[in-house]
Amino acid sequence: MSYPVYAKIKGPIVIVGFGSIGRGTLPLIERHFDYDAKKIYVVDPSDAHANFLRQRGVTFHHLGLTRDNYRAVLGELFKGTEGGFCVNLSVDTGSLDIMKYCRELGVLYIDTVVEPWPGFYFNPDASPAERSNYALREAVRAEKRASPGGTTAVSCCGANPGMVSWFVKEALLNIAADTGHEHDALGSREDWARLMMDLGVKGIHIAERDTQAPAYPKPANVFVNTWSVEGFLSEGFQPAELGWGTHENWMPDNAHAHDKGCKAAIYIDYPGALTKVHTWCPTPGPQYGFLVTHNEAISIADYYTVGDSEAPAYRPTCHYAYHPCNMAVLSLHECFGAGKPQTEHKVLDENEIIEGKDELGVLLFGHQKNAYWYGSRLSMEEARKLAPYQNATGLQVTSAVLAGMVWALENPQAGIVETDEMDHVCCLEVQKPYLGPVEGHYTDWTPISSRWDRFNEDIDESDPWQFRNILAS
Ligand code: NAD
Repeated sequence: MSYPVYAKIKGPIVIVGFGSIGRGTLPLIERHFDYDAKKIYVVDPSDAHANFLRQRGVTFHHLGLTRDNYRAVLGELFKGTEGGFCVNLSVDTGSLDIMKYCRELGVLYIDTVVEPWPGFYFNPDASPAERSNYALREAVRAEKRASPGGTTAVSCCGANPGMVSWFVKEALLNIAADTGHEHDALGSREDWARLMMDLGVKGIHIAERDTQAPAYPKPANVFVNTWSVEGFLSEGFQPAELGWGTHENWMPDNAHAHDKGCKAAIYIDYPGALTKVHTWCPTPGPQYGFLVTHNEAISIADYYTVGDSEAPAYRPTCHYAYHPCNMAVLSLHECFGAGKPQTEHKVLDENEIIEGKDELGVLLFGHQKNAYWYGSRLSMEEARKLAPYQNATGLQVTSAVLAGMVWALENPQAGIVETDEMDHVCCLEVQKPYLGPVEGHYTDWTPISSRWDRFNEDIDESDPWQFRNILAS
């Protein structure tokens, strides 16, 4: 097979963190970039993949980045070179500090999440608002405002957050075409926000169903997932958060607005992994999802706001509605039941998954054609053929990292950007070969059309797309 080489990376490539996503990203970097093979480094406190890296000629630094050492470690690796790329795919590292330092060095930077230094997620002294993704994102946005332009740093460029923001734009264009809605050229953020408003979109679910499974049943007292268990537990224990739309006429009693920042989101005083919502994906049709907090729930609601952020004319509701693989659902049940996380963690890899796919898309609802899901329906079987060392979930993430790196290399002085602010056409062109079928599906489903639990008195029949109807428990 021959693969397109998209760009030359001058200077070292430093991959911070080599877990399930790092392991899947490396072969894509090797395939699609021209770089100096002697200058590719991995930094990770776990040596689980040391042999794998040695065999590929990658220099492995067996240590974790900390608040105290990150400048020294990265400074040394990038010393005396011009350019370079820092690819942060770790847990427990301060994304913002690392991003700022890379920009100081003139080194391109990408990550897949705004990760805090250890201690943030489970800090008993922090309020729910302080432990929110809203707070993490606001810190990055404040840095963007304080230090505009300069070396490109792409924030939150995985599958979600990341790719799904590009899907939202494609979905809007498809809905506009299918409803005969004429619109002007779409250049600015304001143009896109106005298009979403004019199409009558009330809200967006990042609607995902992961059906990947191995041949054996879930082992007791082990948290099993298809990507970072640590990452999922951290976000699952954060308060549920959602971009809060202007059409909403009810708010849960335990929900709160923020008193500073973009004000695009609210948080709920309850863990996201215990907050169930009604949602829809093509394969299962109606299903439960967990309203786990994610950066894109806030960034998308913010990006598509029309008018003043304090009193917007329009803003969509936006949140994650995640049905992880069945073993992860059982793992959550076990974990919350036991009142503590399992000490043994397992990420299912491509060698043991025997069936299933990750169906990850955006469900735009409330418009003229009711609801439209647009996304990737990548099976494990197909992922295996497309790229090594990863499952379907991983490939949706790593191919977004690839697309983000290509974009950054083509736009090296764009400053700090989120994926909503990037050229979705260019990014999806790079990514789509790795996504399996990328499809759009209209549905006549609404959160009240399929509900048999009508003992819930809170249903608002006047508007099916109220969050009141979407929230299950
Ligand atoms: P993982 O748990 O498999 O791997 C994380 C790696 O980070 C491990 O190898 C660990 O040893 C390493 N690490 C821990 N502390 C470190 C430190 N101080 N310095 C350097 N490395 C350190 O996780 P994963 O599934 O590979 O996910 C990696 C990151 O990507 C996580 O932050 C996760 O939340 C994020 N992610 C984002 C998306 C998305 O779509 N945006 C999807 C999946 C994962």
